[in-house]
Amino acid sequence: MFEKILIANRGEIALRVVRACREMGIQSVAVHSTSDVDAMHVRMADESICIGPPPGAQSYLSIPAIVSACEITGAQAVHPGYGFLSENAKFAQILEDHELKFIGPSAEHIRLMGDKITAKDTMKGLGVPCVPGSDGGMETLDEATALGRQIGYPVIVKATAGGGGRGMKLAKSAGEMESAFHTARSEAKAAFGNDEVYVEKYLGKPRHVEVQVFGDGKGKAVHLGERDCSLQRRHQKVLEEAPGPTIDATTRARIGKTCAEAVARINYAGAGTVEFLYEDGEFYFIEMNTRLQVEHPVTESIYGVDLVREQIRVAAGEPISFSQKSLQIDGHSIEIRINAEKLPLFSPSPGRITQYHAPGGLGVRMDSAIYDGYSIPPHYDSLIGKLIVHGRDRPEALARLGRALSELIVDGIDTNVPLFDALLREPAIQSGNYNIHWLEKWLSKNFE
Ligand code: ADP
Repeated sequence: MFEKILIANRGEIALRVVRACREMGIQSVAVHSTSDVDAMHVRMADESICIGPPPGAQSYLSIPAIVSACEITGAQAVHPGYGFLSENAKFAQILEDHELKFIGPSAEHIRLMGDKITAKDTMKGLGVPCVPGSDGGMETLDEATALGRQIGYPVIVKATAGGGGRGMKLAKSAGEMESAFHTARSEAKAAFGNDEVYVEKYLGKPRHVEVQVFGDGKGKAVHLGERDCSLQRRHQKVLEEAPGPTIDATTRARIGKTCAEAVARINYAGAGTVEFLYEDGEFYFIEMNTRLQVEHPVTESIYGVDLVREQIRVAAGEPISFSQKSLQIDGHSIEIRINAEKLPLFSPSPGRITQYHAPGGLGVRMDSAIYDGYSIPPHYDSLIGKLIVHGRDRPEALARLGRALSELIVDGIDTNVPLFDALLREPAIQSGNYNIHWLEKWLSKNFE
C-alpha cells in the first residue's frame, strides 16, 4: 500500500480524499494555490505545498507543478478528484513516466472515453445501447443537416471533446441546424480547443440514469447500481439520488451487468460511470466518465462502501474489497449540490462566510470544505458543499433532506439553498416524476 498520496485538487473533494487516506493510515499531501492558503483541505491534510497563483492553469492544472510537488514531498501516488486533471490522459501518462501512480484508470482508457465519438463506438462494440446518431464527427453543415434528416429532427449537436454541458446545441428542425452547428463548434473550440462536433437524436423526455462501475484492472468488474441525476439546469446536475425512482431490480441487474461486463472486457481499473439517457424503458449511452463523480456519496450511502478507499486499493494493486453478490441496496439516498450562487440568475457569489452551521443527525452527511470566516475565492467553481441524506425509503430521505436543510446556516454569501426549499414543496419532486427537461421549465415559470 502507498505510504503517501498527493491530492491534485481542492475543496470538498480534496477533503474527501484526505479522509479516506487518514482512515487507511496513509499520509496525505494537499496542494494549493496562493489564494487557497487557508482552505480546509490544506488544514486537514498531513502536509501541504503551494503550487502556484490562483488561476487553475497555473496551479491545479499545472502538470509540472504537481509532478514537482510529488518529488518534493515524496508522494508515491496522486488522487486527481474530479474536474481539473482527473480526465487528462497526458497527466496520467506523465505520472506513469515519473513512476508515480495515478489513482484512476490507464491513460489509454481515459483517452478512449474522453473522445465521445470513440467512446460511443467502443461501447457499441461492447454491447452497450447508444443514442442513434452520427458514427463520426461532422465536417460540414451539409453533412450535419443531412444526418439530421436521416435520424429525424429534433437532433442535438455535441462537442466530441465535450464536458460540463458545454458545446451542446439543439436543432429542432433542419432550419435550425445552421445556427446550432456553428454555435456548438465555436463553443467547443473556445472551451476545449477542439471544434469537432457530432449529431445525436434529441430525446424529448428522458431521465439521466448512470451506472457506477468498478474494475480491478485485471479483467474483473462489478457494478454498484445506478444514480438518477435527472434534475438538471443547463445540462448540469442539481440533485442526484440512488436508487433511481424508475429502475426496478431486474432492470438494474440487466443494465448493471452489461456495463460491468463491458469495462471488464477492456481491463478497466478503478471507478467509472457509464451515463445513459433512459426513455420508455430503453437505455441510450451518452458518455463514460473515467473518474470519481461529484455524486458518488449517494452510491456509498446505499451500498455502505467507501469508493475512494476502493480506488486507492485498486491503484495499489489490491483486489476490490467486495463482490457483486455481497452488494445489497439499503434504503434510499439523495444529494443536493450547494453552490455559492445568487438567485434567480444563479450568478457566482464568492465572499466571506460569516456563519456556518452544518446539519447533523441520523442519516445526514455534509461534504463541504467551508467554515466560519472562510472566504470563498472567485477563481474556482461555485460548489461549496454537498448535503447527502439517507433514509429507509425515498419518502423518508426526502423528509430528512427537508429537516437537514432547516438546520443548515450559511451566512455572508448567497447560496442556491432557497431553490431546494422550493423544490421540496413540488409534487413532481415528491413523487419522483420528472425528466431532464423538467427543472428548466419549472425555473422559467417560478424563478427567472
Ligand atoms: P457533458 O459531458 O457536457 O456533461 P453529456 O453527454 O453527459 O455532456 O450530456 C449532459 C446532459 O445533456 C445529459 O444529462 C442530458 O440532460 C443532456 N443531453 C445530452 N445528450 C442528449 C440527447 N441526445 N438528447 C437530450 N438531451 C441530451
